[in-house]
Amino acid sequence: MGFKLANVGGRAALVSREYYYDIETVSNGKLGSDPMAVLESLGILSNLASSLESFTPTGKLDDVELGPPVPRPRNCFAVGLNYRNHAKESQLPIPDVPMVFAKHSTCITGPTSNVQMRSDYVDYEAELVVVVGTVGKNIAVESAWNHVAGLCIGQDISDRTVQLSGAPPQFNLGKSFDTFGPIGPWLVSPDELENPSSLQLVCKVNGQTRQMDNTRDFIFGIPAIISYLSEIVTLQVGDLIFTGTPAGVAAVDGNYLQNGDLLTTSIEGLGTMNNRCVRISDHSNADVVPKTYSKMIAAMRDKK
Ligand code: ZN
Repeated sequence: MGFKLANVGGRAALVSREYYYDIETVSNGKLGSDPMAVLESLGILSNLASSLESFTPTGKLDDVELGPPVPRPRNCFAVGLNYRNHAKESQLPIPDVPMVFAKHSTCITGPTSNVQMRSDYVDYEAELVVVVGTVGKNIAVESAWNHVAGLCIGQDISDRTVQLSGAPPQFNLGKSFDTFGPIGPWLVSPDELENPSSLQLVCKVNGQTRQMDNTRDFIFGIPAIISYLSEIVTLQVGDLIFTGTPAGVAAVDGNYLQNGDLLTTSIEGLGTMNNRCVRISDHSNADVVPKTYSKMIAAMRDKK
């Protein structure tokens, strides 16, 4: 039986319909409250989820603010250019191997947290996020799903000035400002989903659709990404993999996030995140970069 795992006030909770159930309480102390620690006990989580109806809910989801379902991942990988239409709009070739960078895990924040922007070139990237559930090295493509605890929604928020102003560019820091990794609203185990390899994804800004695609259009599917990463890095329980974003990012048309914008990200079967974007102080090169990918790429070429 599948489960939905949330973080309510820093405590692990199971979700069913409009209610949440505190895991330490319903497990009678068998599991603790730490959302990271319960990921080590996926079997117990499944059993608890199948008997939730016999417990009194701890509370209603509407009455609480959820934190990130995986608050302290050791590693946070991200795949660039994993949808054909996004590679095309970025004027970059379809990659032969997964193009992987890291988001520093301190950027992880909750599904309703504010995104704090420090330049006028901050972009959204709606992404499906994979949560690793079993330690693994050299994982075969065929068994990769066995290493997945669940899926959730993510935003790979990107400050394009920091990401692209260098020559060659470096991705990690531009995508790692504090609050640049909202995830949530909860982690959904793959067996809760009819087809975890085909999920519709939508990103809206102030209600206007900016991105819409389906994860079946991935260039590299989840098993291929897990297999590739695990050849190099021993995957740990709770590691996050952001799987790439489809076309429609602001770096193409210059329509960047502005102070007060409401960023809404939805994925079929996984729910919706709502993050308010707030413009705070400028970072050190906040105003140095041209407005779009094509201008940035041209500027980079000029520097070489
Ligand atoms: Zn991304």
